[in-house]
Amino acid sequence: MIDAGLSERKLSARMTRIDRNFSGMDAVFVTHEHSDHIRGVGPLLRRHEIPFFTTEGTWRRANHIIGKVSSCNTIRENEPVHFGELSVEPYSIPHDAEEPVSFVIRYQGKSLGIATDLGRVTPEVIKKLKNLDALLIEANHDISMLEAGPYPWITKKRIKSDVGHLSNEDCGELLASVNHSNLKLVVLMHMSETNNHPELAKITAQQALGESLPAIILAKQNHPTELLSI
Ligand SMILES: [Zn+2]
Ligand SMILES: [Zn+2]
Repeated sequence: MIDAGLSERKLSARMTRIDRNFSGMDAVFVTHEHSDHIRGVGPLLRRHEIPFFTTEGTWRRANHIIGKVSSCNTIRENEPVHFGELSVEPYSIPHDAEEPVSFVIRYQGKSLGIATDLGRVTPEVIKKLKNLDALLIEANHDISMLEAGPYPWITKKRIKSDVGHLSNEDCGELLASVNHSNLKLVVLMHMSETNNHPELAKITAQQALGESLPAIILAKQNHPTELLSI
């Protein structure tokens, strides 16, 4: 599992709806210390005794919220963690947290890249997400909806900054930069309910991907995404 921003109870309920559970889960990885990513982590780890992995900086900032855990395994950018044939490789992302990372996951020749909670697309991000089979990418906001919307000025400034979140356009640019003929699946993630409209995000992604149309799925906040395979 990557991040756990919901309560342990809600996570359990959603896992059940997609026919999954926590028994036998190999690991929980945490990308960074913001509450929408760690709220459920402590109870989840304590109840199910799942090994925990995060960066040193994230643990320093998050341990008072996560609480007592049996072990915290430190991960570092560009150093993959292996579980049999499955590998999880952290890479650095620009976000206003202590030591944020995202991940590329590989298993039996298939690959999946995750990129949420980043303020801009760096050459490093593009390099990591090239030639993968599936991408889980942030399409956080539509820039004009954010600007015209109800958030305080300081919050708008933070979201738009280089260490905030990717807009639909940023997401489109990232997709255009890493697109290739074998890209099979794109999941648009971390979408604001206030500052975005799912159809806007989807159209922008579709336009960026052009002719080669992988499946585009929108991840919603309030219910689990169907189980997807690549
Ligand atoms: Zn977040
Ligand atoms: Zn964040």
